[in-house]
Amino acid sequence: MATQRTLSIIKPDATERNLTGKINAVFEESGLRIVAQKRLRLSRLQAGEFYAVHKERPFYGELVEYMVSGPVVVQVLEGDSAVAKNREVMGATNPADAADGTIRKMFAENIERNSVHGSDSEENAANEIRFFFSDIEIVG
Ligand code: ADP
Ligand code: MG
Repeated sequence: MATQRTLSIIKPDATERNLTGKINAVFEESGLRIVAQKRLRLSRLQAGEFYAVHKERPFYGELVEYMVSGPVVVQVLEGDSAVAKNREVMGATNPADAADGTIRKMFAENIERNSVHGSDSEENAANEIRFFFSDIEIVG
């Protein structure tokens, strides 16, 4: 298996409930390493650009408002097949469909306030990592 990096975001519903450490423990127990991490507050411009792929979806406006409603923790996770591995430990978008033991099953409030973001392909991971981090901020 190839070592990869993926972009993760601990979303406002989770930072609000002080779940950063619990979610990070799930990543680390799965074998993923947190090789970069920072807590910040997204501007509407940044959130809108980050989720631009969903611009035509009916939930886009609400999604942007939610993502700017509180602090987020953006992180780079590294490990074997990190993109797919992270999607696996996150669980399905809708927590009602998420498997037992996944972050969304354990912590998400609903399909929107679902606690974590994870890149969905290697190409998107590279772009999303570059959106938030410079090379010297990532230490593997
Ligand atoms: P994922 O985060 O699992 O990759 P998507 O890329 O489809 O899911 O959606 C991005 C984010 O938009 C979701 O994580 C969630 O916060 C929000 N979202 C997705 N579908 C809905 C929906 N039907 N209603 C409200 N918010 C949604
Ligand atoms: Mg997605």
